[in-house]
Amino acid sequence: MRKKHDMYQYKAVKPGVYILSLDNHVEISEAIAAFCSEKKIKSGTVSGLGAVNEATFRYLDPQTMKYVDKTFLEQMEITNLTGNISSKDGKPYLHLHITASRSDYSCVGGHLLTARINGACELVLEAYEAEIGRRLDPETGLNMYEF
Ligand code: FE
Repeated sequence: MRKKHDMYQYKAVKPGVYILSLDNHVEISEAIAAFCSEKKIKSGTVSGLGAVNEATFRYLDPQTMKYVDKTFLEQMEITNLTGNISSKDGKPYLHLHITASRSDYSCVGGHLLTARINGACELVLEAYEAEIGRRLDPETGLNMYEF
């Protein structure tokens, strides 16, 4: 069965496992969060590939504990998108990383903040039954898993 949302189409291939095709020009993290909300997914993994023409990646400098964000306005292939899904404050919490290749075949990557599709984006998302939360760890300043 094929289902249509305004940001994606998907098909369940076995219980808890979905193939998604995101619509062109959609922002990827927003679409994944919308899907997780729709399906009430509390934990899981996501991976995929595709093409984007606008993306902002994040680097955490462990010395200063400051985030450094960089936006790339160019056509790139997503050579890998990998992430996990947990819950924080009753909402899906996504932790997404990305590697993308440029027209000269070099790659850039980092923690994925936003990425706008220009072409296609195909994902596999596996949802688990367990609810996995996050809590702020004072030592690292990161939202760590809370089991
Ligand atoms: Fe990260």
